[in-house]
Amino acid sequence: MNCPTLAIVAPCYNEAAALPNTAPAFMAKLRSLKASGAVGADSFIMFVDDGSGDDTWEVIKSLHAGDPAFKGVSLSRNRGHQNALLAGLMEAKQTADVVISADCDGQDDIEAMDAMLAEHAKGAEIVYACRDNRETDTWFKRTTAELFYKLVRKLGGEVVFNHADYRLATARVLTELERFGEVNLFLRGMFPLVGFKSAKVYYTRKERVSGESHYPLAKMAGFAADGITSLSIRPLRLITLFGAVVSLLAFVMLAWVVVSYIRGTVVPGWSSSVVCVCLFGGIQLVSLGVIGEYVGKTYLESKRRPRYIIGERI
Ligand code: UDP
Ligand code: MG
Repeated sequence: MNCPTLAIVAPCYNEAAALPNTAPAFMAKLRSLKASGAVGADSFIMFVDDGSGDDTWEVIKSLHAGDPAFKGVSLSRNRGHQNALLAGLMEAKQTADVVISADCDGQDDIEAMDAMLAEHAKGAEIVYACRDNRETDTWFKRTTAELFYKLVRKLGGEVVFNHADYRLATARVLTELERFGEVNLFLRGMFPLVGFKSAKVYYTRKERVSGESHYPLAKMAGFAADGITSLSIRPLRLITLFGAVVSLLAFVMLAWVVVSYIRGTVVPGWSSSVVCVCLFGGIQLVSLGVIGEYVGKTYLESKRRPRYIIGERI
């Protein structure tokens, strides 16, 4: 495809302070891409206001007033990063050939877009931008994040290592993605499932230009659990396996108890009983929790609620 129409999609939640810094940078990048002939003249930037409580939507409207290549949609309420991003992708694909999603806080290095478009020109329909290192992260964040990627893979989910939601996708990929009807979104795990030819590019993630991350530890952990349970049912299988092993051990123990009884060597094993009760109690609770997680998800999915509701478009 020659000179595709590009849409840069960025979800924004309470980013009134960051947008005035990052929006001009996005626009400068878009203009230089247009000038170099990498993307078509009707390419645009689309900001999704995820029900912000601050002036984010006003900022987006004034950006649009200054340059109509800034477009925007606002959601009826805060739906979270993944839903807001999906809303933007679905809106943008109606008029764009390729869409690049990025955070609007300046953390995703816009200079990587050239390489992403070059990979697309070579035939890739999805281009994953991956962090080349995690030096800007704290030790804790780095370790837990890398552990997460490894765990998801071990459990059978497919995720691209050190890739979040900075990626290029063609309209065809997005049309196929639309058919994934799930309410629990974990986009970075869903794109690999869509398939088609893909490529990776590497970039260095920057600090936020202003404001604070909307992903504190508890939310990160929830997101990680969502990711694993929406990509894989292997934890349920592990529980079954674990149950089988424990039952086997119990049988061995039973045999041992019977033998000890016959030999008359039973001792008042209070501590060992207590240890066993606690251990198995714990295992059962954890197992029930994992099962409950999936049951809860099935319940949420079965309601088929809309994933987002658009309030306004500009
Ligand atoms: N975001 C959103 N809705 C939310 C939370 C975040 O649209 O409920 C946006 C946010 O404005 C940013 C992106 O999602 O553009 C990523 O969020 P953030 O920068 O807080 O996460 P981090 O980069 O720290 O993981
Ligand atoms: Mg960020």
